[in-house]
Amino acid sequence: MAEVYVGTKFQTIFIHRQPPADARTVELLTWCRQWAQAGWIAKAVGNLSCRTANGFIITPTGTDPSTLTVGDFVEVLGVRDKEVRVAGLHEPSSECRMHAAIYAARPDVNAIFHGHYTPALQATGVAITTREIPYGTPAMATETVQALGTGNFVVMLGHGFVAVGSEMRAAHTATAEVLARL
Ligand SMILES: [Zn+2]
Repeated sequence: MAEVYVGTKFQTIFIHRQPPADARTVELLTWCRQWAQAGWIAKAVGNLSCRTANGFIITPTGTDPSTLTVGDFVEVLGVRDKEVRVAGLHEPSSECRMHAAIYAARPDVNAIFHGHYTPALQATGVAITTREIPYGTPAMATETVQALGTGNFVVMLGHGFVAVGSEMRAAHTATAEVLARL
């Protein structure tokens, strides 16, 4: 049973209110639209990010990915216990703690795509987390990092999935390969 989205579970500290000036937001937006069209993400469910020199750029929380613009993305500069430091116009994805944990654990990963697509929960032959955990929590981040290991795709039990890659297309391809086997 999927948990109901109730917003972020941290306080957002805005370092400044300018959208990220990074050309890769154009590519990230393209993937958001493609994933929304595929039904792998939707309003307030799922979030896509790519690594930057200072952190990572991620989709804003609670928005519809099919109507995003490049100026809506948020750069996450630091994640602490109950505080997330960002640059941008909006609050970051409620699940940015999980993205931060994966980037910290996996220097080879430069893109993280997190989808909510019910059929994907039945995927076989992939890594899977061992228990259902509320979204946006440190426990969810830790569990996902552990289950992902050195792989590129993990199912989050009762929740969704995460695909990672050295670049955005690789995260997409990892997902497409698993979903093609369903
Ligand atoms: Zn999720």
